[in-house]
Amino acid sequence: MAGDGEFVLLELVRKFLSVESDTRAVMQTLGALGEHQSRLRGRGTITSRAWGAPFGRPFDFGSTEVESFHTRCRVSRPVRFDVFPGGVAVPLTVSRGCSYGLCTFCSEGGPSRKARVASDFTWIGELSARHPGVPLYFQDSIFPATQSVRQSLLPMLKSLGVDWGCQVYLPSLSHTLLADLAAHGCAYLYTGVESGSNEILAAIGKKGLTRELIIERLGWFAGHGVRAGLSLMFGAMSDDGRLVDTAETVADTVSLTRELSGKGVAIAGFYPNIQTVLPGTALDLGLASRGLHLDFYSMPRAPEFASFEDGAVGYNFLTVDGPNSSQRRQLAYAIIAAANAVAGSPDPCDSGGALEPQGVEATDVAKPLSPARRGSRHAAQWLPHPRSGSPGTIGSVG
Ligand code: SF4
Repeated sequence: MAGDGEFVLLELVRKFLSVESDTRAVMQTLGALGEHQSRLRGRGTITSRAWGAPFGRPFDFGSTEVESFHTRCRVSRPVRFDVFPGGVAVPLTVSRGCSYGLCTFCSEGGPSRKARVASDFTWIGELSARHPGVPLYFQDSIFPATQSVRQSLLPMLKSLGVDWGCQVYLPSLSHTLLADLAAHGCAYLYTGVESGSNEILAAIGKKGLTRELIIERLGWFAGHGVRAGLSLMFGAMSDDGRLVDTAETVADTVSLTRELSGKGVAIAGFYPNIQTVLPGTALDLGLASRGLHLDFYSMPRAPEFASFEDGAVGYNFLTVDGPNSSQRRQLAYAIIAAANAVAGSPDPCDSGGALEPQGVEATDVAKPLSPARRGSRHAAQWLPHPRSGSPGTIGSVG
């Protein structure tokens, strides 16, 4: 399930537990959801092999209030996060969705979905008070820069006196905004630069993100005392699933890391990952348009990428389209060599700034994902708003 699915998931599990656990029951359960639309909220995609291709079906029961997420989650303990002194952070979000949302591989955005941002931040002060002195890490797809965030949240964060970090999309990060974030305690920014090749950046939907812009904007960080965590995504495919990464573009990415280091950018870590197809993304839909309907319940393996975050399992350029050619295997080896080449920086094949649970209790937020993890397997192209009863639709009230 992708998207804002907590209400639908809860209903789904309840229904599933009340009927026989076979494939027919799953289908009946999903069909029954539409009969109780008034109780449901959320938009997203459910993927199941039970109904055959296309495996991903959209649901739309209207938007979910962003505040409800915070009242329904409780962070009992910080999680491990080694970019901050002390090695832990408290994860949180103040918005839903990505305000950019056009990256072809990501499951968090969507061109017609605006991010929804909380306006009441008092709970953050209470959350921080339960974890005195522990840094905060905002896992919002892109940290929002709304009026309420700048006028209310930032002063509150400064008054808390703790380090904090968040995630940004470089084309929408102005120098003024960076200075504002840093002046209010932001010490770490994570972003997906993904590639040193402008052709690759265009192919994966990173509009406005170029090698030149990456170098320019990351060059601002050190002057404000902000360190950067950078996702590097290898094995890029076009939005219909054709491999576009080459040995040359892989080398471009390595040279970008060299150039950034040479320019004195304060880098907390480079985080290489392999582009992996996620259900419901533009990449998934593009593959389906070529007749490649991926069964996400039977994931292929790519042992070559075992050292990458999530690289060993899933649909990537080695596994998405039949047997490996020797040319693809050669590229895989070039990627592994590239990841090793940037390994002079901290933990190149580690979880890339990912937050890892540290004694997380059942009431804690679920294991958070790094942007890289969402990205390669991330990112979000939302399906068109379906009408109730249209083919492939579970339910719709919009
Ligand atoms: S990778 Fe996903 S979360 Fe990041 S900018 Fe692109 S759409 Fe947004």
